[in-house]
Amino acid sequence: MKVKDFHSMDSHAARESGRLSMMEDYSKMRDHEKEKREGLSWKEVFLLNKRAVLLWCRECPKLFISTALHSAIAALVPYLTLCFSAGLLDELAGARRREELIRWIMILLVADAGAYLLKALVFRWKEALSATMYYHGEARISRKILSMDFCAADDTATHELLSRIRQREHWSGWGIHRIYWHFERLTEELFRIIGAAALTVSLFCLPVPEEAGRLALLNSPLFILLLALVMAGVTLLSPYLSTLAEMCVMDHDESMKRGNRNYFFCLDLFREEKRALDMRIYRQDLFGLKRIRKTASVKDGVLRDVIRDARGRMGILFGLSAATSRLFMGAAYLFVCLKAWGGAFGVGSVTRYIGAITALSAGLSGVLKVIGEARVNSDTLKMTFEFLDIPNEMYQGSLTVEKRSDRKYEVEFRNVSFRYPHTQIWALKNISLKFRVGERLAVVGQNGSGKTTFIKLLCRLYDPTEGEILLNGIDIRKYNYREYLGIFSVVFQDFQLLAMSLGENVAAGSSRGYDRKRAEACIRMAGLSEWFAAREEGLDTILYKDLDEKGVKISGGEAQKIAIARSLYHDAPFIILDEPTAALDPVAEYEIYTKFNEIVGNRTAIYISHRLTSCRFCDEIVVFHEGSILQKGSHEELLSEEGGKYYELWSAQAQYYGKEQPSLDSPHKVIYS
Ligand code: ADP
Repeated sequence: MKVKDFHSMDSHAARESGRLSMMEDYSKMRDHEKEKREGLSWKEVFLLNKRAVLLWCRECPKLFISTALHSAIAALVPYLTLCFSAGLLDELAGARRREELIRWIMILLVADAGAYLLKALVFRWKEALSATMYYHGEARISRKILSMDFCAADDTATHELLSRIRQREHWSGWGIHRIYWHFERLTEELFRIIGAAALTVSLFCLPVPEEAGRLALLNSPLFILLLALVMAGVTLLSPYLSTLAEMCVMDHDESMKRGNRNYFFCLDLFREEKRALDMRIYRQDLFGLKRIRKTASVKDGVLRDVIRDARGRMGILFGLSAATSRLFMGAAYLFVCLKAWGGAFGVGSVTRYIGAITALSAGLSGVLKVIGEARVNSDTLKMTFEFLDIPNEMYQGSLTVEKRSDRKYEVEFRNVSFRYPHTQIWALKNISLKFRVGERLAVVGQNGSGKTTFIKLLCRLYDPTEGEILLNGIDIRKYNYREYLGIFSVVFQDFQLLAMSLGENVAAGSSRGYDRKRAEACIRMAGLSEWFAAREEGLDTILYKDLDEKGVKISGGEAQKIAIARSLYHDAPFIILDEPTAALDPVAEYEIYTKFNEIVGNRTAIYISHRLTSCRFCDEIVVFHEGSILQKGSHEELLSEEGGKYYELWSAQAQYYGKEQPSLDSPHKVIYS
């Protein structure tokens, strides 16, 4: 049976018993939404952003250095042009000396070209580094998921939290990546403010001569104060309005989430290769197209409210924000031109002062806008840190697992009962079982009887709710977890191979090279001798075409055998095979059965299946029913208990497979419906 991985959370089984958990999740989500509306305090906003910046600086320090450098250059370069062009314009409006004009032009050209060259070089450096951010972010999330207790990773609430973080990131660009853009803009704006302030000082200091009459009013400190206040007001208003507009976007979080899910649903539906046949035969395209139409519908699609708001409240706020900043420009032009007219400075300085004062305002607006955005973004940052801070609550012991060449590891389940977190149903009830060393044990039972849960507990993906599991007489919680896991090789039904070489797939986990001879032997032992002999590249054959067009496509059966070879290479004392022959054809299945003893060798094997014929060769068969062990014994013993569950299942399967049960004596006798 499947051990549900992080992405297969929506299985029917999980939904059924996870109902309580889902209700808790929804109420958590509602609390979260409420909290969001109430807003975070400025202190929380500061701490969240500080933590995010430090996290990025730790992970990619050079990116932040190159960005700060680029921001400084980008912000200061325009002033260079402004300063030198003022000299040129003054000369043009004044003495118009030829040599002076040429000198100013040369200075302007050399300074500009040099500055832009430097800017372009630093820009390339910064851009190349910023392209790695995505990988750093993904690696951070993967590290967290992999280091998380399995029960936390398997929890719907975790899944939902990550999905919301990703949705905000992909849809509207909020989240931890945004911190970098904020940092970039903030440093650029700060440098811009410094440069502009330095240039603007003389604008206010240079007085209009008294002879200018009424224009001398421009020298009045009261007038200057009034003007500064108006300009500051306009400077603040623009970012304030745009932050309000951004908050409107966040109000549509839920619709955007639904829109996003629909988008990926449609993407999967039409592009995924594995769906292509179903799509054609069952005309799922009609269903998919209808859904796309509905999603994209302006009138009643999931994005209806977002679209409506973009035309209304949100659009107006963004528009007003843009318009206000232009008002500032008008006031700046008026003030500078009047001062020049009054004779405070020459015409050449007009462009310089206009440029400087608008840059000062844009810089201040920019800083405030980033602060506003950082506030809006903090909600997503909070979610991100909630995810990164999910604690590992499983007890991690430190006992080392004794390395035994005789493989004498004995595992015992003692009165083990288990309930999945947030559920009331017992998935396992009072299980007591001892694996004898070297034994072949089959675990059978109907769907939902607890087989997979039993394996999850054995591999300590979950801890029992009651009772204990012992390894050589000691509670498994006391062992070092990594070492404990090392005694198991598992072939899950939904195993995953990688688009890498065959050898790397078989020897997974050996990052420092691998034993090629052993890998080849395992491949042959798993029944792939002929297939392997036909591979010219041998162990270097690349599987699948994802990363290499020379890669080979493999059938489900071949993949399953490679997975078996991988478990053999791992060479652990316990081998667990979860429906190992589900994807094999009858002949290949027969091959695996007859060679099973050879394959498993002196390991203790646990074989999970609901196809009873595949369990006949096991020493002991355990029949699970509704979380309990109903029967135990050899195939013959269990079959002799007429009226027992095993007999009932066997008889039921006999009907489907024909009068003659699949036999191990000859592959040709295997009759499948
Ligand atoms: P089997 O492998 O025999 O089909 P499982 O071990 O998968 O059975 O399931 C046993 C019981 O535990 C079922 O009632 C199932 O609904 C429940 N269950 C399985 N996985 C989860 C989960 N992640 N969360 C909640 N309940 C679960």
